[in-house]
Amino acid sequence: MYRSHNCGELTASHINTEVTLSGWVQKSRDKGFMIWVDLRDRYGITQLIFDEERTSKVILEQAQKLGREFVIQIKGTVIERESKNKNIPTGEIEVLVKELTILNESLLPPFTIEDKTDGGEDIRMKYRYLDIRRNPVKNNLIFRAKVTQEVRNFLSNNAFIEVETPYLIKSTPEGARDFVVPSRMNEGEFYALPQSPQTFKQLLMVGGMDKYFQIVKCFRDEDLRADRQPEFTQIDCEMAFVEQEDILNVFENLTRHLLKEVNGVEVDKFPRMLYDDAMRLYGNDKPDIRFGMEFGELNDVAQHKEFSVFNSAELVVGIAVPGGNAYTRKEIDKLIDWVKRPQVGALGMIYCRVNEDGTFKSSVDKFFDQEDLAKWAEKTGAKAGDLVCVLSGDTNKVRAQLSALRMELATRLGLRDPKVFAPLWVIDFPLLELDEETGHYHAMHHPFTSPKPGQIELLDTNPGEVKANAYDLVLNGNEIGGGSIRIHDKATQAIMLKHLGFSEAEAKAQFGFLMDAFEYGAPPHGGLAFGLDRLVSILGGQETIRDFIAFPKNNSGRDVMIDAPAPIDEAQLKELNLKLDL
Ligand code: ASP
Repeated sequence: MYRSHNCGELTASHINTEVTLSGWVQKSRDKGFMIWVDLRDRYGITQLIFDEERTSKVILEQAQKLGREFVIQIKGTVIERESKNKNIPTGEIEVLVKELTILNESLLPPFTIEDKTDGGEDIRMKYRYLDIRRNPVKNNLIFRAKVTQEVRNFLSNNAFIEVETPYLIKSTPEGARDFVVPSRMNEGEFYALPQSPQTFKQLLMVGGMDKYFQIVKCFRDEDLRADRQPEFTQIDCEMAFVEQEDILNVFENLTRHLLKEVNGVEVDKFPRMLYDDAMRLYGNDKPDIRFGMEFGELNDVAQHKEFSVFNSAELVVGIAVPGGNAYTRKEIDKLIDWVKRPQVGALGMIYCRVNEDGTFKSSVDKFFDQEDLAKWAEKTGAKAGDLVCVLSGDTNKVRAQLSALRMELATRLGLRDPKVFAPLWVIDFPLLELDEETGHYHAMHHPFTSPKPGQIELLDTNPGEVKANAYDLVLNGNEIGGGSIRIHDKATQAIMLKHLGFSEAEAKAQFGFLMDAFEYGAPPHGGLAFGLDRLVSILGGQETIRDFIAFPKNNSGRDVMIDAPAPIDEAQLKELNLKLDL
């Protein structure tokens, strides 16, 4: 038996008990005649004491050779500590060691395995198994397990069936590139790894499973923006015989269950916002509603004066920064530089101070009088002591820029408390989105999303106006889930694919299996998927999803621990009938 107890459970009630413990040497303090060792395992740290008299000289000498991260087993007696440590659960006792076995030695670890480590990100990724021994990483993984456990509890209790779907499949378009896998047995042919199990879960509905879920890996070969992973995990769900309302209710309840069980937070009914309103008021389809600072559109009060920058703009829009009138001229200049950075891309920023006495002072006083500026304040909700920041230009771009500024200022003002949870449904997304570069429409969600009833005719005349029964769940400014009511008849699916630019032959080759299935009694259905990594990191009050993934990839999509991706040898290439052309 390696252990009778773990390293986190011995307390004063165990005094005089004989115990066996196993674990890692976190550190030791050697006084010559006496040695203390901190023994660590997943559950905690227990202090061991070796001394010349009570232990034995042989064991003391053995203990003197213990290095950091040696794996040892000890037998001994629990005794009361002289100087107690109130900060840890085992702080009242120590174990007087009588037997010591070294189970495995360790090289000196490349960084300290303690909560505060001296190791940089790269080295910790290379030795991730050592990093996992540290509380911050270990606790995140335990936290993630608790979330998935609660997801399974909730969904299983609500009659969902967990079904696995294949990884070696054919492309499912979710808007990214596919990772592909060559098939040895089918020369010159490739599988695609699923960007999501979308078509399979729909086929499960045709198969009568009624309520499906799966905690599943998805693979998307995207240029990695910050905090994305090429493989990530979804809580993927689908239901038959449902309308949008049914789905929103079930998954609102799931999210509420998680907030309660995992965070101990009770949340009321989630507010809902139309996509168009989200864009108008926050410039963003995933607004953070923990704070206000809503957009005020200023076209009717700021255009048709002498200021040509505004006159030529499609949109003039502002936000009120609470207390912003306290900013010095220098601070405001810095803010202007901030919006002009290429990452944000604004050409400039106009501002207007709202003075305590109700007067205004703007950077464009030459063109706008007090009455004009009062209207800016009114439209943006600015009060005395605030600062109105105004951007102008092309609608989509300006909204994105002002949204970035809004989030930045809120962060600086401390308005984004990770312990406050503000969930929100954004509904009625457009069905299609115009790709400005190619001039083509593509599916905003995916090609299986159903247009709103009665809007299908609009596809021919005004495709950008068609709305879908598509929804996103937003938490604290992050999209944590999204889904839609699906098309479930062949004719509509064919129309949709035609509008997305698929020829009849291409549609048949790529999605014939799904369209065929729709001819055998497909029930109305819909669903959604949560991004588990992001959900867990937000519930955990942290920003980076990497911190909640056991073995994440870096920003270049590499696993630096196992050194993947890597070349394969000639023989393997030959077997797959592949030739490299680099
Ligand atoms: N398959 C979709 C996605 O990955 C989710 C859904 O529509 O259920 O975003």
